[in-house]
Amino acid sequence: MNKKRDISTGKAVITGIVSGALLVLAAALVITALRHGGAKEEASANNGNAEPNIRAEEAAVTAAPTSTPTETPRQIGGRGSWQPIPESVVSEITGTSYPSDGSAVISLDELAYLTIPYRDFSGGTQTGEMIVARDLADEVLDIFAELYEIGYPIERMRLVDKYGGSDFASIEENNTSAFNYRMSTDGGTSLSKHALGRAIDINPQINPYVNSSGTGSHENAAEYWSRDIGSWSDETAKRAYIGPGTDIYRIFVEEHGWEWGGSWAGYRDYQHFQKFN
Ligand SMILES: [Zn+2]
Repeated sequence: MNKKRDISTGKAVITGIVSGALLVLAAALVITALRHGGAKEEASANNGNAEPNIRAEEAAVTAAPTSTPTETPRQIGGRGSWQPIPESVVSEITGTSYPSDGSAVISLDELAYLTIPYRDFSGGTQTGEMIVARDLADEVLDIFAELYEIGYPIERMRLVDKYGGSDFASIEENNTSAFNYRMSTDGGTSLSKHALGRAIDINPQINPYVNSSGTGSHENAAEYWSRDIGSWSDETAKRAYIGPGTDIYRIFVEEHGWEWGGSWAGYRDYQHFQKFN
């Protein structure tokens, strides 16, 4: 009897130890789970704080129903990023490339501010800035990411406002740019596609606007009025040339369906790509 009792007591002790151990294990698991949950919340709260408050406010004010900005600015050398036009840039462009009198047919909400990595004429990486129609922003980033990949050289990429909104001054410096609320360069009274953020001029000195008599208005581009690059002296200019058969033409026109000004009859605008939708 004693022996039996001892055995059952022993069983009870073992069962007690096992149950206790299981309880401790379960408790440990619960605590671990709780800690993980807490850590996750903390991490997401930190991420939230890392976003500049002003950006959230601007997004709220200018939110577009169709698309949202790419989340984080990428590393230089990757794809660029876009955001609603920041307040500092609104101040910079209003009264320069964007009318201050309320006459613009496009609102600032319909435009996007892009920062874009590009290869300069020395092969180095620079970050440029550009304003385009918001619905084209992601496609423009894709295009310039491809241009970066193939090493297409771009001399500079600044807002035309850095030139007081002067298209002429921007072209004189071979500046690549897009948005400018101005009339069309064909001398007509129609609004340029640049005024809608739907046109980009690339290396405009090397890829000039040439009228029907074969000349342009920038003397520093005279060598490039001829599109026979065999006659050009500068090797970088040859790589920046835009024409059928070039990679940049393939990317804009064949891959992304943009229209090229170099294929127009009468005058030719070799620097110019535009897209309507
Ligand atoms: Zn143009």
